[in-house]
Amino acid sequence: MDITAAVAIEAGGPLEIRTVQLAELLPGEVRVRLVGTGVCHADVIARDQVYPVPLPAVLGHEGAGVVEEVGPGVTRLRVGDHVTAGFNHCGRCARCAAGLPSYCEEFGARNFGGVRPDGTSPVSLDGAPITGWFFGQSTFATHANIDERLLVAVPAELPLHLLGPLGCGVMTGAGAVLNTLDPQPASSFAVFGAGAVGISGLLAAVVAGCTTIIAVDVVPSRLDKALELGATHVVNAADQDAEQMIREITGGKGVEYALDAAGVSAVFTQMANSLAVRGHGVLVGAPAPGDAAKLDVGALLTASSPRLSLVLEGDAAPQEFIPCLVRLYQAGRFPLDELVTTYPFDDINTAITDAERGVALKPVVTF
Ligand SMILES: [Zn+2]
Ligand SMILES: [Zn+2]
Repeated sequence: MDITAAVAIEAGGPLEIRTVQLAELLPGEVRVRLVGTGVCHADVIARDQVYPVPLPAVLGHEGAGVVEEVGPGVTRLRVGDHVTAGFNHCGRCARCAAGLPSYCEEFGARNFGGVRPDGTSPVSLDGAPITGWFFGQSTFATHANIDERLLVAVPAELPLHLLGPLGCGVMTGAGAVLNTLDPQPASSFAVFGAGAVGISGLLAAVVAGCTTIIAVDVVPSRLDKALELGATHVVNAADQDAEQMIREITGGKGVEYALDAAGVSAVFTQMANSLAVRGHGVLVGAPAPGDAAKLDVGALLTASSPRLSLVLEGDAAPQEFIPCLVRLYQAGRFPLDELVTTYPFDDINTAITDAERGVALKPVVTF
């Protein structure tokens, strides 16, 4: 069938709204009519070919929508279900079986390869197959064929367009805090980078009962947002020394838990140096390949012996963690609407630009 998609044609260029063809469903696949899709950093670096996803490509991997048709063998979902999609994984390898699907042996191929494992794509442009399986989703489009394993049913009474980002950006930040750090109540926490991922981590630190919550960023509007959503202190790293400020705020001890969502190696160094004795810091923001972090490991070992973790997709299994975030949202403890700015689908390039400039925390295009 003909659908409308935003297609990345050339590296760094604007996405073009085009008519493309969506193939018939394969066994296990579900056709989703998209209601909203979040814009995530991975979409931007794929468009810019930092990650060499084959172009032309329909990107988008924070989709939420309504099941319109189910393929042969689909058992868990039916037409009319409201769904949101998590990242792609094989569901069969040892790490998937161990509940760690973000470390799936096929994670790279299944999320950035652009086509199904059999080499086919559900999407064609002018009769030729293009990348139409980005993260197994390609949701910058009115419709997408998605494996039912990646889809999580959500309550129909909720504003569906808000729930797409649960599948990647929100899960990454909140998961790193709730799954990886698992902070003790009344502990101290710092987040470096108060974008959508960092703020999701901050909200999770509030949920976990941290009582000292420090947000570090260089964009004043993001720091204001962090204060609104539960930060007890903010540090503007444009004109303040983050390590020194964190020491001052914590009475010289450093923070017990920290999240680096910035994607800049120098910030990873700052985070490591800001931790208390046996503090735990987790990196989720990916610096560009080749951007190496400097660590004085000898000094760190003797001064604080911190734990440092590098984590993908918040160590989360989407089928368990997305419903957990939905329940927190329903309970008023995870205000997704505070993160999201909506844009009509036609304005998707503005949405991406606003995300890059830090004007919008989490842009969601709506259909
Ligand atoms: Zn796997
Ligand atoms: Zn993402």
